[in-house]
Amino acid sequence: MSDTMTRPATGGGKATRPMIEVKDAHKSFGAIEVLKGIDLSVERGQIVAIIGPSGSGKSTLLRSINHLESLDRGEIWLDGVQVNAPLTGKAFERHINAVRQRMGMVFQHFNLFPHLTVMENVTLAPRLLQGLSGEAVRARAEKLLDKVGLADKAEAYPSRLSGGQKQRVAIARALAMEPKVMLFDEATSALDPELVDEVNLVMKQLAQEHMTMLIVTHEMRFAGEVADRVLFMDGGVVVEEGPPDRIFTAPKAERTRAFLRKYL
Ligand code: ADP
Ligand code: MG
Repeated sequence: MSDTMTRPATGGGKATRPMIEVKDAHKSFGAIEVLKGIDLSVERGQIVAIIGPSGSGKSTLLRSINHLESLDRGEIWLDGVQVNAPLTGKAFERHINAVRQRMGMVFQHFNLFPHLTVMENVTLAPRLLQGLSGEAVRARAEKLLDKVGLADKAEAYPSRLSGGQKQRVAIARALAMEPKVMLFDEATSALDPELVDEVNLVMKQLAQEHMTMLIVTHEMRFAGEVADRVLFMDGGVVVEEGPPDRIFTAPKAERTRAFLRKYL
């Protein structure tokens, strides 16, 4: 004990603290318990894919991490800060608004603002929330649009873009707040098959840059390529988790095997 107490602070504690931690998460809608005690830990720079049948609670888990749903029981932590902190009223509102700025979320449906250009979509939140100059925000947005391959679409309106382009704008918009983690909820499920790869490619690029990511997906091949760990959920519990190789080639639970038979 004294050893840990006296060891110089070389960042050891910080480096080993998970980026995302979910502890015993419970959530019910009416009489139906949708999350039945979920534990999950994502290290800094790690990529975790969540797979599982429709209705198993994947979206509810992701939404709870971002506090779009509030848990009935359990804790969510982001980089050592409790997301669902025991605060009330205005104090909680201030807290959650600050925490949310550190999490980028990308949904199945792109939720772009239709009346704003691509550039305006990407710069809106940093302009309003980070108090940066218009020039600084614009420079950041240009870099991000270039990164997602849409430098030439800055002045276009969302209605003029393909689904794949819209989703890449949504990713750029989430990145514009310089989040600590990115949460993807079936980001490619609504896309025509030929547009899936261009979005997956952007996610792979983020993986190479060691962005911490939690990715809900039905694409097993993509999960296998990008994830450090795959977690199989069913009926509101984590049935099993492990490296993609192991989960896909030697699943332990019968429920996992039954699910994967439909995909592999
Ligand atoms: P998944 O993303 O794995 O398909 P969800 O988390 O969306 O699963 O949903 C899990 C269960 O919770 C489903 O039975 C769904 O109908 C239910 N559910 C999700 N959100 C709500 C809500 N806001 N109100 C009531 N039931 C909900
Ligand atoms: Mg879902």
